[in-house]
Amino acid sequence: MDNEILLQVNDLETTFFTNDGKVPAVDHIDFHVYKGEILGIVGESGCGKSVTSLSIMGLVPSPPGKVTSGSILFEGMDLTKLPESKMRRVRGNDIAMIFQEPMTSLNPLFTIGNQIVEAILLHDKKSSKKEAKSKANEIMKLVGLPRPNELMNQYPHQLSGGMRQRVMIAMALVCNPKLLIADEPTTALDVTIQAQILKLIKELNEKLHMAMLIITHDLGVVAETCQRVIVMYAGQIIEEGFVNEIFKNPQHPYTLGLIKSVPDMRYKKETLYSIPGNVPKPGSVEIGCRFASRCQYAMERCTKETPPLYEVANSSTHKSRCFLLQEKGGLENVEHLVESQ
Ligand code: SF4
Repeated sequence: MDNEILLQVNDLETTFFTNDGKVPAVDHIDFHVYKGEILGIVGESGCGKSVTSLSIMGLVPSPPGKVTSGSILFEGMDLTKLPESKMRRVRGNDIAMIFQEPMTSLNPLFTIGNQIVEAILLHDKKSSKKEAKSKANEIMKLVGLPRPNELMNQYPHQLSGGMRQRVMIAMALVCNPKLLIADEPTTALDVTIQAQILKLIKELNEKLHMAMLIITHDLGVVAETCQRVIVMYAGQIIEEGFVNEIFKNPQHPYTLGLIKSVPDMRYKKETLYSIPGNVPKPGSVEIGCRFASRCQYAMERCTKETPPLYEVANSSTHKSRCFLLQEKGGLENVEHLVESQ
């Protein structure tokens, strides 16, 4: 990971204008991605993580959605100000995205080879068909697709889910992007294949030195792949830091709940922990902590004031949006109290 920033998101707000009024799906968030790093954005569905990635790609469905404030600087260029023609060029050359279900992005009527070759020719207009075929072969090997020559003539439905996701990654790599956004890249796959795809993502990051933004609901995926992580809840960032900081010393009760919900094979549990309650509807909590209705440590102050992102003691990289840091010196102190009762 370099210390040079590739993507800088400042005060981003993305709003959906619905019949029920304005819905701020992403509510003034700030974060950055360094060149060559893997950053995770984690949270339950409805927390704003996917809308954040669509905002970066300029793909928020409009109407009803719109980036209503802030900037998204990619190598210093504000993507929110680019006309669609230029944004299309950024999507084709600098930033690529892969989605949860590759079948929705692959054309079932064309062979795998056809689709990869087409993507190469679209990106590099000077390439001949023969050169594009040989490049397709190389990229397929790079993403671990066996027998590329044979696979080229197969259709998407003839491949397993894991192989289809490898094809999608291959197509995303065609343009040699500086940033790859992966939105729940392994959610539709079974556990063994999921581990293989996560391994591939890490290998590609190391080999190609390409920055990645992994959007997931699963902290296990973050632990496997990412260097830093942002935890989102109801449109806000509620905790951020290096992965080891977050796992060793979580400072927001919501993050702690997510950690407890990760299955741990070392312990046999009857039932897996789940955080009680549901995420509030975006915009429904105007004042106070948005997690208060689900938080076992909520204090009077929590429903009357909105917590800012506090820096955790002894770390300039670890932050948490929780009053416990100020009131009790950290989550570990109340967790200790609860356990000793
Ligand atoms: Fe819980 Fe209060 Fe912290 Fe919110 S600010 S997470 S309600 S203790």
